[in-house]
Amino acid sequence: MSKKYILKIDSEHCKGCELCIVNCPKRVLKLSENINKLGYRYVEIVDISRCTGCGRCYLMCPDYLIEIYEEELK
Ligand code: SF4
Ligand code: SF4
Repeated sequence: MSKKYILKIDSEHCKGCELCIVNCPKRVLKLSENINKLGYRYVEIVDISRCTGCGRCYLMCPDYLIEIYEEELK
């Protein structure tokens, strides 16, 4: 059985520090071209299928803006 991961990112509070982006070994994340309510370019997902659920993005975010969920695929 394989697994699929879902990331929930609180993009309205993201300050675009890029810590999650540079620490993702699978290059799942990137900075958006758009700006959030705080005036920062925020993080968005490039390709969630590459995510291994390693948790580095979650651990690196100073503001705990990323949550990771796991789904079993049958
Ligand atoms: S859980 Fe790991 S692979 Fe998935 S986006 Fe975060 S750092 Fe990248
Ligand atoms: S580490 Fe957190 S604040 Fe920094 S870019 Fe990623 S989601 Fe935004």
